[in-house]
Amino acid sequence: LTADAQAVVDEIESEDVDFLRIQFTDILGTVKNVSIPASQVEKAFTEGIYFDGSSIEGFVRIQESDMRLIPDPATFAILPWRTRDDGTAAARLIADVVDTSTGDRFVGDPRHVLRRAIRRAGDMGYTLNAGPEPEFFLFEEDEDGRATTITHDAGGYFDLAPKDLASDIRRDIIYGLESMGFEVEASHHEVAEGQHEIDFKYDDALTTADNIATFRSVVRAIAAEHDTHATFMPKPIAGINGSGMHTHLSLFTEGGENAFHDEDDEFNLSEVAKQFLAGVLEHAPAITAICNPTVNSYKRLVPGYEAPVYIAWSDVNRSALVRKPDSRTPAASRIELRSPDPACNPYLAIAVMLHAGLDGIERGLEAPAPVRENIYEFDEAKREEYGIETLPPNLGRAVDALEEDEVIREALGEHVTSKFVEAKRAEFSEYKTQVSQWELDRYLEKF
Ligand code: ADP
Ligand code: MG
Ligand code: MG
Ligand code: MG
Ligand code: MG
Repeated sequence: LTADAQAVVDEIESEDVDFLRIQFTDILGTVKNVSIPASQVEKAFTEGIYFDGSSIEGFVRIQESDMRLIPDPATFAILPWRTRDDGTAAARLIADVVDTSTGDRFVGDPRHVLRRAIRRAGDMGYTLNAGPEPEFFLFEEDEDGRATTITHDAGGYFDLAPKDLASDIRRDIIYGLESMGFEVEASHHEVAEGQHEIDFKYDDALTTADNIATFRSVVRAIAAEHDTHATFMPKPIAGINGSGMHTHLSLFTEGGENAFHDEDDEFNLSEVAKQFLAGVLEHAPAITAICNPTVNSYKRLVPGYEAPVYIAWSDVNRSALVRKPDSRTPAASRIELRSPDPACNPYLAIAVMLHAGLDGIERGLEAPAPVRENIYEFDEAKREEYGIETLPPNLGRAVDALEEDEVIREALGEHVTSKFVEAKRAEFSEYKTQVSQWELDRYLEKF
């Protein structure tokens, strides 16, 4: 065993862990679990855990279905909501996936896609730091324990003393996250009723993607303990703000310097930062399919609810796709991509953001001037004058944009691209055949 793996084995012993969940994520971002008794953990580290990949969404064809999970010791964490009265506990490890037919990392494993992006950045001398701001709603359950869209409270943005359960639930979620090693930087009630945001500290790309996956399961599990349903669905209620997951990005050099910082620049952004920003803007249509992967995601990306619609950046306002936040220290110089939503596959989303930015650096792309006015108020002529394009308006168009972008296709690899496109085309086709309540309300009696 490696020293890291041995440390996990020791902790399993000392913390009385009796079961381990070995986790990985499918292409669509769903976390899969294989449960093993703690006695099997050494074998899991040395030999891996075999499973049948054909039963996992978008993984493989039936005839080539043998996969092996290699747990990553750095991801060991005790599940805070699973500690039992007798003191025994359950823990989890996140795994990489190996294709047993070749012995190589499996090309359809989203963690592998992200590792490839990280390697490309490393070859260029950079480490990506990513900090997400995931938002979610807490809804009540009905008598049968099913989720409703009835919000839990009537609080508003930065309401410091909500009178009810929601703040207790949020506090328990934060305790749970902290016990799993998260550094929670801020949490607050969001603009909409029942909506919350918890920000945790940025970290390297892989850790952050793992953290987002973990975050979603912790939030759901702890909400469920309080008989509420937490949802990361991007726009559960029409007419109020949806849930986003703004993602803050910067590149650090091997020496630990922030390559995005330039003291002398008007925006404190280096040339490298601006090229990265230009790459993100150039590939924005294609990465939308990955960062906003559901039919419902596009109900959020509309004017009027603080979500981005136009492909532009700004150092002063929050209507743009990319914002340059105030940074008080060199380490905090970063850009914020405001389009992603918390339904995305975090591994693929961070991978495509990173590749988009690296492409901008490699090609020396030039960032446009920041837009300081409120873009929502521009008419079409003014947008044309500024050369501002819009994000894809629906999932179908986003998938088109993905298919047309060679750089992003390559970022995902042929396997993930084709499986993702196939699944999302089917999802969008099915949606198009549905008849919504809005249509019935509008037309049933009129015609
Ligand atoms: P907002 O002003 O959009 O609400 P927040 O201050 O809530 O932004 O979010 C800040 C996020 O940015 C946190 O996750 C934080 O850790 C992260 N962050 C801070 N510095 C960096 C950096 N250099 N690179 C990437 N992320 C960073
Ligand atoms: Mg925030
Ligand atoms: Mg904030
Ligand atoms: Mg927010
Ligand atoms: Mg933000």
